[in-house]
Amino acid sequence: MIARRHLHVAGIVQGVGFRPFVYRLASRLRLAGWVLNATAGVEIEVEGRTEDLDQFVQLLATGHPPFAHIEETVVTALALVGETSFQIRESSEQKTHFVLVSPDLATCDDCLRELNDPANRRFGYPFINCTNCGPRYTILRDIPYDRPQTSMSVFPMCPACQVEYDNPADRRFHAQPNACPDCGPALTFAGDATQPEDAIAAAQALLAAGGVLALKALGGFQLACDAENEGAVRQLRNAKHRGDKPFAVMARDLAAVEQYGVLTGADRATLTNVRRPIVLIPRRPESTLAPSVAPGTATLGVMLPCTPLHHLLFRDAPFRLLVMSSGNISEEPIVTNNEEARRHLSGVATGFLLHNREIEMRVDDSVVRNVAGHTRVLRRARGYAPLPIDLGAECEEVLACGAGQKNTLCLTKGHYALLSQHIGDLSNCETLEFFNETLARMRRLFHADPRIVAHDLHPDYLSTRFALSLEGVERIGVQHHHAHIVSCMAEHRLSGPVIGVAFDGTGLGTDGHVWGGEFLVSDLTAFERRAHLRYIPLAGGDQAIREPWRAALSYLDDAIPQQDLSFWNPAPQSTVALIRTMRQRRINTVQTSSCGRLFDAVASIIGLRHHASYEGQAAIELEAAAAPDMEERYAFTVQPGSPLQLDMRPAIAAITADLRRGESTANISARFHNTVAAAIVDICVRIRADAGLNRVCLSGGTFQNVYLLSRADAALRRSGFAVFLHARIPPNDGGIALGQAVIANRIWQTRQRNERYM
Ligand code: ZN
Ligand code: ZN
Ligand code: FE
Repeated sequence: MIARRHLHVAGIVQGVGFRPFVYRLASRLRLAGWVLNATAGVEIEVEGRTEDLDQFVQLLATGHPPFAHIEETVVTALALVGETSFQIRESSEQKTHFVLVSPDLATCDDCLRELNDPANRRFGYPFINCTNCGPRYTILRDIPYDRPQTSMSVFPMCPACQVEYDNPADRRFHAQPNACPDCGPALTFAGDATQPEDAIAAAQALLAAGGVLALKALGGFQLACDAENEGAVRQLRNAKHRGDKPFAVMARDLAAVEQYGVLTGADRATLTNVRRPIVLIPRRPESTLAPSVAPGTATLGVMLPCTPLHHLLFRDAPFRLLVMSSGNISEEPIVTNNEEARRHLSGVATGFLLHNREIEMRVDDSVVRNVAGHTRVLRRARGYAPLPIDLGAECEEVLACGAGQKNTLCLTKGHYALLSQHIGDLSNCETLEFFNETLARMRRLFHADPRIVAHDLHPDYLSTRFALSLEGVERIGVQHHHAHIVSCMAEHRLSGPVIGVAFDGTGLGTDGHVWGGEFLVSDLTAFERRAHLRYIPLAGGDQAIREPWRAALSYLDDAIPQQDLSFWNPAPQSTVALIRTMRQRRINTVQTSSCGRLFDAVASIIGLRHHASYEGQAAIELEAAAAPDMEERYAFTVQPGSPLQLDMRPAIAAITADLRRGESTANISARFHNTVAAAIVDICVRIRADAGLNRVCLSGGTFQNVYLLSRADAALRRSGFAVFLHARIPPNDGGIALGQAVIANRIWQTRQRNERYM
């Protein structure tokens, strides 16, 4: 019995070797017909014996390439056509639909073997790739994913490459970025001397001599130097105006990583997977790492080579570990083109490793951490963006603009949320430009024209101002911590209500105060603030974030007024007096329930850090100091009312008593962390008793603290709660846009429904 069928396949099916796979499968089963990339996915028609057709449909679902991800297959019967062969057809474009886009994929083992094989024609070629690996999102200008729509369009394939591209049996069959030394992009090295013969060797020599190299990587430039050369690292740190913020490193291989850090099985798997993120691991204190790589932290952010260029940089090199930092100055976005690099980075880099393939999309390295068996994404960029988050229900098209720090934006389309790569702190016009450029590109790629725009309540965030500047759109303001909790709910497809614990540094509350230690009962449209950290007055606005001692002063004056503070000397007496006066007169003073400021306060009170050179430094150092095996904690109280108030004054008083007794920083820090974890459980139990809710979502930047996260999670579970933590979505403000998008969607849909009944 002969039949013909049409298959519509949706999901991540472009740029992942899907059509070659279909071709091979159809040929093997002796089916005729065709396959093509369409704007809405992949379209297939097959004709042959019905049992072969059935097998085709089954193997399509089970045998597809590893990075393809099928969301849906629709099979319909057709009349016979009578073809005799199977073809890959030219792409078709329908403007109304959209297709999911693959992230960039790390170099595969087959390509790596060829790269290192002197007999291979791509031996040492830094742009080797195949259908299983290579650039995707970063070279894509438009969809469908075909060479003319990528920055490979200016490199016509040579006959040898074309044969591979056209041969269904070849690993490079329809590999869009396919290239070789004869036809593809090429490297150049620019330094002091004349153009060297071998760009890689020149770059290696520069690094070995302690220089700083700017290299054009996948989603932007990186700045590299030898991570064991303290002078080089310090030079890079100073030139980047980086303060103490830790640098990430790239290691030659896993064996090299183990010399600097302690790896679990999960860490090894994450380091070597196709996304190749930066993984935060505990570091070996005795290692030969230059002290300036990550001062004051107990962790190391490390990644393995992710492109052929990185592999070549380490081949036969005298170094095994390089600092690999984003190619930018201070908080500006990562630089992507050669001219920009020379303009912005020439004060930092002593040499440039350049090439002539354009980067179409700026994408930084991703950062993850393995906690309790799960990979938790802290910065979502290369290898992850723009993977969709399936929301499980049809959405309106919404643009969510995110928060101020660690900004990302989010579009919803169909039943997906498309969260952008990490954009950064929207604190300058360069980053705002990055925001605009990403929005424009994502709108084009995903055929989105959102009329509903969600934004934070903070009027000064550039993301809010952007939203307010748009005309002809429906705007929906979303409270910051509500967005945090809903981002976690969306990740787990919860519709609520849940108990949401949102702990972070800053977010504007509905009462005009600065929130950040919040217990919300939340669903997808609204929340009720059931409890929060007791307000403290904080003088100095953003300055207070850079000077943890100011939060400490507020907490000390609140907890132990009129007591001797001679154990604590963060600033001259006159400055301390000035801040007190400002606070009393309410000059530039806010009321805050921020959990970030509580951690700042404790770090300063115990003398660990009075001035911070990057966001979260005090909390990171406080976590690093905590003794691992400590169950004791301090007291706290919960003041009745609506909302309840979590009062940490007893803990602050006990900490000062411990200090006077000469207790160790490690023990105080551990007791403090345990106190916060116990307070979370205590308040969740009260809310459960009152509201009858048993599901708890933990979100907000504070939960990047693994010591706190693990203890709060374990203690909540012991108390019978179902606990939901972030994994694919950052707990920090990088997830805010997702929460905003989901809330705006639900509010809009509810509104439409109500209007219908009116
Ligand atoms: Zn490959
Ligand atoms: Zn070629
Ligand atoms: Fe936040």
